[in-house]
This record gives sequence, C-alpha cells and structure tokens, in this order.
Amino acid sequence: MHGSVREQVPLAPYMHLRIGGPAEWFVEPFAEADVAMVVTACRDLDLPLRVLGGGSNVVVADAGVPGVVMHLASLNRMVRDGQRLTAGAGVTLPTLLRNTKEVGLAGLERLTGIPAMVGGAVAMNAGTRDGETFDLLTSLTVVEPDGRIAVWGRDRFRQQYRDGGLAGAVALQATFELTPDDPAAIFARFSASLKKRNQSQPVSQRSVGCVFRNPSGDAAGRLIEQAGLKGTRQGGIEVSGLHANYFVNDGTGTAAAFVQLLQDVRAAVRSRFGVELEPEVKFWGG
Ligand SMILES: Cc1cc2nc3c(=O)[nH]c(=O)nc-3n(C[C@H](O)[C@H](O)[C@H](O)COP(=O)(O)OP(=O)(O)OC[C@H]3O[C@@H](n4cnc5c(N)ncnc54)[C@H](O)[C@@H]3O)c2cc1C
Repeated sequence: MHGSVREQVPLAPYMHLRIGGPAEWFVEPFAEADVAMVVTACRDLDLPLRVLGGGSNVVVADAGVPGVVMHLASLNRMVRDGQRLTAGAGVTLPTLLRNTKEVGLAGLERLTGIPAMVGGAVAMNAGTRDGETFDLLTSLTVVEPDGRIAVWGRDRFRQQYRDGGLAGAVALQATFELTPDDPAAIFARFSASLKKRNQSQPVSQRSVGCVFRNPSGDAAGRLIEQAGLKGTRQGGIEVSGLHANYFVNDGTGTAAAFVQLLQDVRAAVRSRFGVELEPEVKFWGG
C-alpha cells in the first residue's frame, strides 16, 4: 500500500471539537486502490475500521479508538466535465464551493458553511434548509465492504435525512451535476447563506454542529431552548447560547463531559416534552 501507517496517533487535532484520545492505527492511503487494500486488510485481520473525514461530526472517546482510523485527505482531486464536477472524498466543502463559484457552476451553495470533506458530506447526506448533498449527486465511487471498487448510480442510492446509506462502503469520489450561472450571482447566494449562518450559529467555536437530529416536524434546538437549557454546562462543554443544538468546547472539554451533557439534555427534553432526541453526532471508542 502507498501512504502512511502510524501507531497511537492523537485524534484531537483532526477533530473539529478538538477532543479525543489516540487511534491505535492511523492510516493515510495515497490513492483509491490503496483505500481498497486497507479495507481488505482490515477485513482479513478482523480489525475495526473507521473512516475519518473532516472530523466535524464525530466525538472520539478520551481513551481513544481501537483498530484503524483511515483518513482520506490525499483523495483531494477535482475534475470538471462540462456541468459535472467530480471531487475526491478528501476535498473539503469550502474548497469545492470556492471552485464551483469560480467556474460559474451553481447548486452547491446549499452546503455553505458545512465544514465537511466530500466523503463525510456524502456519508451523512449533509444538508441545510436549502437542500442536501444527494440532491445533486449523479454517481459515487466507493469501496464496498468486500474491498471491491464500484461506481454507484442514482438507482443504487439509499440516502435518508442525515444518512447517506453507504452501508459500510467507503466513499472515494462523488460526481455532482451542477447548473451554469453567473459567478457573481453564485457568490451573492453564498455570502447571504454565510451571513445568516454566522448570525445564528457559533461557527467560530469548537463544536460538532447539531448534536441531535431534528425530530419529525420540529427542531431539536427549539426544544432544548424551550426547556431552558441554553448555557447548561458539564466541565468545559456548554449548550451554546446562540443555537441550543450546538454544544461548544471552551478548550478544556472532554468526551466524557460531552456525553454527560448530552444525557442531561436528552433527559430534560424527555421529561418536559416527552420527546426522545436522537444524536446526529457519531461516537467513536469508549
Ligand atoms: C460548525 C459546524 C456546522 C455544521 N453544519 C452542518 C449543517 O448545516 N448541516 C449538516 O448536515 N451538518 C452540519 N455539520 C455536521 C458535519 O459537518 C456533517 O455531518 C458532515 O457531513 C461531516 O463530514 P466530515 O467530513 O467532517 O465527516 P466526519 O465527521 O469525519 O465523519 C462523519 C461520519 O462520516 C463517515 N465518513 C467520513 N468520510 C467518509 C468516507 N469517505 N466514506 C464513508 N464514510 C465516511 C465517518 O466514518 C463518520 O461516520 C456541522 C458541523 C460543524 C462543526
């Protein structure tokens, strides 16, 4: 395999929340075929394998993660073919959006402000009120759990709300069908979304975005706020005063404190409204 394999690598620097112990093995494959080799090797050696994108939706346990964490930052190529744009799983959404804006291809503004990599955005079907990642996806190249590389078309997509339906496959690259538009108009929409987000969400603080999925017909943030929980704290983790579905780390937080706060908030919302909030954030290790 081309790439790097390191032992006991601290994960906190890779995580948006800046929390988490080490990965037992941290693997950074160089190219698509190397990703397939890692998937096959982990299966043969019976090693747990986790794929890390931008680390913006994961809380890693303080004690770290057993097995392999595979980071796909090397898959960072972008290729344009007319209105179609193919991006590697390791391309960050901000980079992707900047590029589509510059070449006058519209559509991805709906993902403005999401600090994901393309692979993570696909795995989570990341989205906003304006739309989701899968809206514009025409094909997806993946490594399936048996180690084979496959190209999935729309007929194979199984996405749901905040779930790309990858069923254990690793996303390698995604092709989006976009619409030609004036770069200035795209930029204006992008700026307006960013402004709105900056006013309503604690974007400059360490968080994992929305902690809970929105229950059907309601917003988790509204329920948490109505339960009077803004500003509630466990250690260095606090329910944001700006957006109650965000928990922010003041720099001293731990995964244990995050989990405790999540349980406190869940219990309070359950007792006040009878609603069971389901976490959107993923937990690794612990
Ligand atoms: C400030 C902030 C704002 C946010 N705003 C939004 C928002 O508006 N809308 C929204 O939907 N989310 C939002 N999020 C949450 C987060 O950005 C999304 O869930 C995003 O899709 C996660 O992408 P990532 O690359 O960071 O993935 P990670 O957090 O690294 O991983 C998330 C999951 O995806 C899996 N994964 C990652 N890459 C791959 C791959 N190549 N193949 C298979 N599985 C993979 C991981 O194993 C994990 O299960 C926000 C987060 C933050 C911190």
